[in-house]
Amino acid sequence: MALAVLYVALPYGRLAAIIYPVATVVAAAGIAAAAYRRQRLFRPVAWMLVAGALVLAAIGHGIWYWLELSGLEPFPSSADIFYLAVYPLFMAALWVLRCRSDRDDGALSDALIVGTSAAVIGWALLIAPYMNDPNLSLSQLLVSTAYPVADLILLPLVLRLVFLQQTRILAHLFLLLGMLAYLTADLLYAHGNLVGWYAPGGLTDGLWLVAYALFAAAAWHPSAALEPFVHASNVELSRRRLLVLGVTSVLVPAMILLTAERDTEIVQVGAIATIVLLLLVMHRMDGLLKETHRQSDALERLTRLDPLTGAANRRQLSKDLAREMARAERTGAPLGLAFLDLDHFKQFNDTHGHWAGDALLQDLVTAWREGMRPSDVLARFGGEEFVVVLPDTGMEAGSQAIERLRRRLPQNQTCSAGLAVFRSGESADSLIHRADQALYAAKDTGRDRLVCA
Ligand code: GH3
Ligand code: MG
Ligand code: MG
Repeated sequence: MALAVLYVALPYGRLAAIIYPVATVVAAAGIAAAAYRRQRLFRPVAWMLVAGALVLAAIGHGIWYWLELSGLEPFPSSADIFYLAVYPLFMAALWVLRCRSDRDDGALSDALIVGTSAAVIGWALLIAPYMNDPNLSLSQLLVSTAYPVADLILLPLVLRLVFLQQTRILAHLFLLLGMLAYLTADLLYAHGNLVGWYAPGGLTDGLWLVAYALFAAAAWHPSAALEPFVHASNVELSRRRLLVLGVTSVLVPAMILLTAERDTEIVQVGAIATIVLLLLVMHRMDGLLKETHRQSDALERLTRLDPLTGAANRRQLSKDLAREMARAERTGAPLGLAFLDLDHFKQFNDTHGHWAGDALLQDLVTAWREGMRPSDVLARFGGEEFVVVLPDTGMEAGSQAIERLRRRLPQNQTCSAGLAVFRSGESADSLIHRADQALYAAKDTGRDRLVCA
């Protein structure tokens, strides 16, 4: 940062031209040192990429100032090859540093929405006015447009840091500010070259050095060790973010309105950008809908199922039983209901531990499900007590079905069961009570058996 100030303060000349690439190399070395020396740095590769980019920039600066001071035209020149090679490295670094998430967090769509709008404005300000300028050579125009284009590809990746709220990590905030300083300097340089106000040794060049210093500060900040994570609030669309996206989406049509009379190309560029923006907004909405569905599915499972075993919970049992009883009343088909309780399960827990007990309950539900008809209902009534509802099943077939389930118990465990068959006109409580009484009888007469009510 001190070298940046010195560079701007010194009159432009040989010394300033030497300070500039030296300052760049110092920043690159600082970042590389952080990547090598600091322990537990989050994704050191990203910082090596930034250091590599600055080395390329330093070579570019060396060529540029050498040409400039020799009275040759430095823009465009071979320096631009090195300058342009910086961008892919920056992009890769930002990509590596992003927080990973298996959900579509929407941050990239949001960044692309803002980036697309920015591209149109950049085009209208930087490219359109000079398209037909006879004073500019084709290579000048191509190279000067190459920077804004590279900037605009980089911009969404930079903005993604903001939209992911990764900038809560100070190191990433420094990186973001550095990238913004870099992009601003680029745009100023492109504009200054096109319009003709750019002169070396000024604040525009100083801004790049400020960017390098911010990169180095980011690499050395303690928070560079932290791994960014996707906060739940990043996935939802906050009202503030919706406002930002809304305003940026309106910028493009507004630009068309303002400039259409003077400039007809804006109509084409604006129309294309508007289509892209609409597609991006639709993609974003699609992501939100998916997220909403995911959440409502999860919520629905929570209200229906027992979290440990995935069997139906009591709420779901009441619903299913009421439905099956109504059907049995209507059609006269038999309906069986069994109560099952593991024998001496407390002892199993005491011997093998609660984790093993939990695993047994889970295995049991898996095993029983495989031995049941799809229309049968398996519900966890509480602890190690289960209820099985058997539609179209009378006492005899029900006994066989329950005995089959009892034989499927994992780890040589046994269980007792009581079976009752629905009587026309009786309530659900009464049916369950009779099965429960039968279960008690099974326990009282020695366990490991089925008793029919
Ligand atoms: P009985 O043969 O008379 O049924 O004896 P029991 O030990 O199975 O019956 P009791 O009702 O005395 O104890 C039930 C035990 O089930 C108590 C508790 O340790 C265990 N249990 C209940 N719910 C869970 C659970 O979710 N996970 C585990 N691991 N154990 C549970
Ligand atoms: Mg028990
Ligand atoms: Mg019990």
